[in-house]
Formats: sequence, C-alpha cells, structure tokens
Amino acid sequence: MTVELKQKIVVLSSIEEMKKVSASFCDQTIGLVPTMGYLHKGHMSLIKNSVQTCDQTIVSIFVNPKQFSSNEDFDIYPHDLSGDLEKLESSGVGALFYPDKEAIYPEGFKTNIEVATITNKLCGISRPNLFKGVATIIIKLFNIIRPQHAFFGEKDWQQLAVIETLTKDLNMDVQIHRVPLMREADGLAISSRNSNLSPKDRVKALCLSKSLDFAKQKIKQGMVSSAELRRHIKNIISSESGTQIDYISICDPENLEEKKDVKGRTLIALAVKFGPTRLIDNCIVEG
Ligand code: AMP
Repeated sequence: MTVELKQKIVVLSSIEEMKKVSASFCDQTIGLVPTMGYLHKGHMSLIKNSVQTCDQTIVSIFVNPKQFSSNEDFDIYPHDLSGDLEKLESSGVGALFYPDKEAIYPEGFKTNIEVATITNKLCGISRPNLFKGVATIIIKLFNIIRPQHAFFGEKDWQQLAVIETLTKDLNMDVQIHRVPLMREADGLAISSRNSNLSPKDRVKALCLSKSLDFAKQKIKQGMVSSAELRRHIKNIISSESGTQIDYISICDPENLEEKKDVKGRTLIALAVKFGPTRLIDNCIVEG
C-alpha cells in the first residue's frame, strides 16, 4: 500500500515498495531514523539531524514485538499514526516505512541477531529479549532501506552501544550518528512511554532527572565512590512511594562495566518502574 500525502511524504507498508523507493534515491544519501512511533521532540531531533546530514530521510515506525517479553508493555505501547504523520509533514522527511508485523516476521521466521557481553547488563538483565529484538530489526531495516546514515538517541545509551558494536562487527556500511537526549522543560527525559504515566506518577518520575542532577553535583564536589553515589540516587528515587528500581548503574560508557569509582568519563544510567511504566534515564559525568 502506498499513500501519497500533500506534503510529499510517502507512506509505505510493503517491504518490496520500500526497497524500490530506496533504490530510486540512486546516488543520493539516505538517512534512516528508526522509531516505534508516537513521535515526540526526541524523535524530531533525530529527524532534524538526518535532514541536515542526508539528501533523503526515511523514518520507520514499527513497534517491534520481538524486543518485548510477555510481561512487558507491548499491548499498551502508545500509537497515533495520524498525529505522527502531522508531525512528519513539514519535517523534511521523504518517506515513512510503516510495515505490519506479518510483513517483518512472516511465518517461519527463524533468525535472531545477538550481540554478546554488553547486552548482559543494565536493561538486558530485566528485559532478556530487548537487544536480540533490537539487533534483528535494525539489521532488517538496514537491509530493506540501505541507508548510508542512521540516527539514534543517547536516551537509549545501551541500545546505541549495541548498534555500534553490531554495525562494526558485521562491517555494515552505515554510519551511526549519536543524538543527545532531549528533556521536557522540567527535566523528565522525553519518552513515548511518558504518556502512559498517571498524573501522580508523572510528578514522581521527576526523581530520575533530579537524582542524576544531585549525583552530578556531588561529583563536582569531589565524591568519587560509586557506592556512595548509588546510595544518594537510591534515596532520592525511593523517597517517592511506589517506585520500583530496576537498576542504578555507574559504569564505563563504552563497555558498560560497573565502576567502583567515578574516574574519567562515566555513564550513570537508571531504570525505574512507576506503576506499569518503566522509564530509563542517563547522563555522562567526568570524574
Ligand atoms: P523509540 O521510538 O522510543 O524506540 O525511539 C526511537 C529513537 O528515538 C531511538 O534512537 C531513541 O533513542 C530516540 N529517542 C527517544 N527518546 C529520545 C529523547 N528523549 N532524546 C533523544 N532521542 C530519543
């Protein structure tokens, strides 16, 4: 199915048609922005980067069932295709790839792409299917769309590390671009999942960015012990009732190994559940 829109965004749900459109871009550079939709300012920042860098920008929207486990929020993941199309209309995007899951995973689909080590930490522990699903869909999107550039947000730091490893290990000719994390005015990391927060949990969720800011301040004042910093972060998050901490990681930003002390460039990454909604946040600090 191909739908021509006023602003010349072509919406394609067929893999074959997507391949044809990509091929028709010939010697123009293609930038891909993979998303799960319910577009927000974070996604738009990736798109802006791609439009500035590439001749053609293709956005994909696909809520990838492979990366969710049965106890996760696949069924309640927010969708709003018409809202997404409105946001894309004046963005400079040339085509939207919007396949359904039967097209991406037809009966008999057997392949899983797995990146070792960096996937066994942080989000990989409580979400065992996440990175297999991400690696598999990204390889598929790269093969279908054949971009020279692809844009990912540092909001999902570990996902970026996995994709960088994957493309390097498999000699993929795709340049991976990192885009900084975008926040709401009050500090909350922007996420499609924020729309699933109750008004009370939306307020409580500010404890994530507040705890990161507090840790940054402590590090500036000379605190280096990860254990001590973790204790402070935990206290701030736990002071909000009903929060469930998945992890507080203070680690190397490249290999994601935990650090005893904050020395050199360090990633502080958090995952916390607010009711059914699991949010992540992170920042880089220099010890
Ligand atoms: P998602 O739709 O949540 O799978 O995200 C699609 C892409 O947008 C991923 O590369 C994310 O890292 C990126 N992204 C999501 N939220 C933000 C944000 N707040 N700031 C920057 N990038 C983001």
